[in-house]
Amino acid sequence: MDDIKEGLRYAFQTKNVLTLAISGTGHSGMEAVLSNLLEPGENVLIAITGTWGDRAADMARRYGAIVNTVSSKFGTTLKLSEIEDAVARVRPKLFFIVQGDSSTGVLQPVDNLSAICRRYNCLLAVDVVASLGAVPFYMDRWGIDAAYAGSQKVLGAPPGLAPISFSPRARDVIFSRKTPAPVYYWDMKLVGRQWKCFDEDRIYHHTISSTLLYGLREGLSILADEGLEHAIQRHRTCAKRLYNELEKIGFELFVENEDDRLCTVTTVYIPDWVTWDDVALYMRRQNVTVSGGMGPTAGKAFRIGIMGYNATLQTVTYLINVLQESIKHVKLVTA
Ligand code: PMP
Repeated sequence: MDDIKEGLRYAFQTKNVLTLAISGTGHSGMEAVLSNLLEPGENVLIAITGTWGDRAADMARRYGAIVNTVSSKFGTTLKLSEIEDAVARVRPKLFFIVQGDSSTGVLQPVDNLSAICRRYNCLLAVDVVASLGAVPFYMDRWGIDAAYAGSQKVLGAPPGLAPISFSPRARDVIFSRKTPAPVYYWDMKLVGRQWKCFDEDRIYHHTISSTLLYGLREGLSILADEGLEHAIQRHRTCAKRLYNELEKIGFELFVENEDDRLCTVTTVYIPDWVTWDDVALYMRRQNVTVSGGMGPTAGKAFRIGIMGYNATLQTVTYLINVLQESIKHVKLVTA
C-alpha cells in the first residue's frame, strides 16, 4: 500500500499526503470526492462536457448539495470566461470538472482554473479517470484540490480501485465538516487512516482486495519505469496516427478542433455510407471491440479507446486494418 501511495503521487504529480486508492471503480472516486467535500445545502458548480458531469450532478444532489451547472456545446471545451462567469455567479464551495470526457472525447484544459477558484474561494475537483497517465496532469502545480482516476484505464490494472488524492486545503475541509461524511465506506478520515496517510496507527476500516492492490502496484510500476512524459508522448503519437487514418477512410471526428481531443478516446461520427452495427459486430469477431456512443454521442458516434498498454502504433494499424476489412465485408454482404 505504501508503494501504491508513492506510485500514485507520481501519477498525480503531487506531494499530497491524502493520496490512496478507494475500493471501487472510477464512480467510487467521484462519490468519494463529492460526499467528502460537500455538505447538505452547500452550493456546487458542475461543468458538463458530456455524460460524466451529469453523473456528478446526480450524485451531488443525492448528498443534499445545491447543484448548479455550466455546459459546453458538446464536442467542444468550456471556455475560461464561461467558467469564470459561472463561478462568480454561483459562488460554489466546490467546482467540479472532467479533464477527459470519454462520452464526447473532449479534453478540457484544467491547468488554468485554480486562479479562478482561489479568487472565489472554492475548491477545485477534477475527474481524470480517462486521462491520468496519458495527458499532462500536474495536481500540485495546477492547484487542484481533489482528483480521482480508475485503475483499469491508462494504468492498465484490473478494474476495482480508484486512485484519489486530496490537497491539504481539501483535507482541512474534510476534517472540519459540520456533519459526518454521509457514506461510512468512503469517509476519507477513516480510509485515510487505513492507508496510513496521517500520523496515526493504521486501522482496519474495510477489507481491501489484495489481488487488486498487487495489480495496481504493477500498473504504477510500469508507468514509473516508462516515465510520464514518454507515456504521454506515446498516447499523442497513437492518437494522431488514428485521426489521420480515420480521416483517410472518410470518417469525420466528433471533436472538430484537434487540440480539444482526448487522445485516449476518439469519438467518430457514424457515417451514412455503412451499416455501423454490422461493422462493429464484424470487428468484434476479429477481437476488436469498438464502443457505441454514450450520452450526447449515443446513436451519433462510435468511440475508439486506445490507452495504456494498448497505445501502440501496432494496435492502431491492426484496428484500422480490421475496420477497413469489416467495412468491405459488410458492403459485400449487403450489396
Ligand atoms: N469518469 C470518466 C471520465 C470515465 O470515463 C469513467 C468510465 N468510463 C468514469 C468516470 C467511471 O468509471 P468506472 O466505470 O470505472 O466506474
